[in-house]
Amino acid sequence: MAKGQRPAGSDKSAIITALPKACADELAAVEFIESLRWSETRPCCQRCGDTDVYKMTDRKTGQRNKRFLWKCNGCQKQYTVRVGTVMEDSRIPLRHWAYALWKACSSKKGVSALQIKRETGLTYKSALFMMHRIRFGMAEDWRGQQKLSGTVETDETYVGGKPRNKQSRPGPRILPHRKTPVVSLVERGGNIRSFVTVDVTADNVGQILAENVARESHLMTDSAGIYRHNSIHNYFASHGVTDHSRGQYAKPDGTHSNTVESAFSLLKRGIYGTFHNVSRKHQHRYVAEFDFRWNARKVDDGERLSRAIKSSVGKRLQYKEPLATLPPTPIQGTPF
Ligand SMILES: [Zn+2]
Repeated sequence: MAKGQRPAGSDKSAIITALPKACADELAAVEFIESLRWSETRPCCQRCGDTDVYKMTDRKTGQRNKRFLWKCNGCQKQYTVRVGTVMEDSRIPLRHWAYALWKACSSKKGVSALQIKRETGLTYKSALFMMHRIRFGMAEDWRGQQKLSGTVETDETYVGGKPRNKQSRPGPRILPHRKTPVVSLVERGGNIRSFVTVDVTADNVGQILAENVARESHLMTDSAGIYRHNSIHNYFASHGVTDHSRGQYAKPDGTHSNTVESAFSLLKRGIYGTFHNVSRKHQHRYVAEFDFRWNARKVDDGERLSRAIKSSVGKRLQYKEPLATLPPTPIQGTPF
């Protein structure tokens, strides 16, 4: 698709105008999500891929079937728009999904399950379940994707833990059970990729860099010891360093890591301000949610919502498989 061209059915004003009704009326919600999920493809059969499908109707009223089913003329199987997405197997009405997706896509610092509970009348447990699935749907798997390039800023931060440990000086192996390290890579003017790790060492940061940043890139970091490791320092086209301990945050030649720092500040304001801390087990989901919004920051709320729905296709939440945010395992043959 040509740059700047909008897919049919995802027009900015059309999506935003349809939202309030989709969040209040179940039929409107179903048709809203159908229009976004299938804006570029036909609503094909979720079992066999046949496009010869139709909406089932109620015999008496002629209205759409109560369960909003589709039927395939090929394999005769029935399905709904939920099938094959994170909404599959959920009994939560789609109008609540539409509302939660809208809030998650339009709030810079995220939306808490507690707020969704209050605003939809769902139980906290249902709201939390739904929000985790939305985050999972937003999560991108970077493996095999094109590497970041140009100028890439890298830094690490520590999130979570008890408030009393919040001011503790972070560092490898100092608070392993209280705070979780997050390593982020940001291409200036481009995308962010964040990784929740168990530890920050030259080895695992080196591996994240090797797998996600093109070698011809210009790397920008602070003066932390892990980046002074020669193998990292010499691997990229150049390596710019700012020494925060000397109060140096930017150099006249454009060396700074302010972009990644601002991404961290947003993440922290979300984790401490919106979510009031998150469990370690789910931290990678919140990080994925913030990455998603960052990477879709240049589009409007409607288009971001459309992307969140498309991104949730083909995903089923399995708690044992946290998708690309696991600590990387050492790979033989990298230069680090
Ligand atoms: Zn079929």
